[in-house]
Amino acid sequence: MSNANREAPPSAGRAGIKRELPEHFRDYRHVWVFIELERGEVHPVSFELLGEGRKLADKLGMQLAGIVLGPPGEATQHAIAEAFAYGADLVYLVEAPLLADYRNEPFTKAMTDLVNTHKPEILLLGATTLGRDLAGSVATTLLTGLTADCTELDVVDGSLAATRPTFGGSLLCTIYTLNYRPQMATVRPRVMAMPPRTDKPVGRVIRHKLSMTEEEIITKVLGFNLDRQSAKANLAYADIVVAGGLGLGSAENLQLVKNLARAIGAEYGCSRPLVQKGWMPADRQVGQTGKTIRPKLYIAAGISGAIQHRVGVEGADLIVAINTDPNAPIFDFAHLGIVTDAIRFLPALTEAFTRRLS
Ligand code: FAD
Repeated sequence: MSNANREAPPSAGRAGIKRELPEHFRDYRHVWVFIELERGEVHPVSFELLGEGRKLADKLGMQLAGIVLGPPGEATQHAIAEAFAYGADLVYLVEAPLLADYRNEPFTKAMTDLVNTHKPEILLLGATTLGRDLAGSVATTLLTGLTADCTELDVVDGSLAATRPTFGGSLLCTIYTLNYRPQMATVRPRVMAMPPRTDKPVGRVIRHKLSMTEEEIITKVLGFNLDRQSAKANLAYADIVVAGGLGLGSAENLQLVKNLARAIGAEYGCSRPLVQKGWMPADRQVGQTGKTIRPKLYIAAGISGAIQHRVGVEGADLIVAINTDPNAPIFDFAHLGIVTDAIRFLPALTEAFTRRLS
């Protein structure tokens, strides 16, 4: 980013954030969460972020706002009601037919106009396909800092402390946006816990007009083809996930994982090498560069438990690991470890469940 007129950022380290914040930062207030509405549905990551946003807003003594960008109609009204139900104190709304399908230009325009008018201190978005696209263009348009794929958010000395993995997941770094506002961060679905839903009545809605016409938008939506295969892989929000790793030895043996998943009504997933080998599609990968999951039960077969896998699964309530090596790292964080050959054990487990559940 070329930005020659702005002062240089302070030197790295905690010492840098102890200084007085610039006077004009006092205009910035409230914690904003983008309520992601796509094809009539609110993405649950928006509610997870409202839960986190609430904590940040309370620490800063500020209000929590939901940002709803959508076409006039029922879905947008529903998104507003849900934002309040999950804790928003107020909602900023841009309602326009041009926002019916996600396109970068009108959404960036709507969000940056809102930011420039109402000046949020913090802006959070889900690290979904849509959220990542929007966050990047909003941050570069506003010339502010964006920390992507955060695993922890906090307020330290009045600034957003956005923590994320670095160096291939072996270290965590905490990033501060000290000289620019708003402080932006994205968080992947399921990384943060879902807050409780309340039946709060709709509160204050602040409307803003979209100053853009269809002629100004280069992107046209000609149609929408839903990838049925991907749409089925709802790993992030599944209650039970069965996953296979390299220990299964071959693509054919992955059928054992799928059979168990089918028997117990689970989604199936895998470790990264299986995607790299072309044995499973990328949307089935669990871990740091795949999906983060928080199921009630996670069964990992033939997976060693490398740190990049662990960070994606450790939010599971119960982790069951099947591995031939009693020293495999996965046994350090599994709740239940079974030291055995998964290729023999999985069919027996599937049969036992099928008998019990039929
Ligand atoms: P291995 O590490 O080879 O483990 C196989 C395991 O199977 C071993 O523990 C072995 O004892 C066991 N085994 C062997 N035979 C049997 C048997 N018959 N029955 C039972 N157990 C058996 N990985 C991910 O999973 N997700 C990610 O998102 C991810 N992101 C990454 C990002 C980066 C930047 C990097 C550098 C790496 C990433 N990785 C990721 C890769 C990660 O570091 C590991 O290489 C990977 O998780 C290992 O996969 P695995 O456990 O299937 O294979």
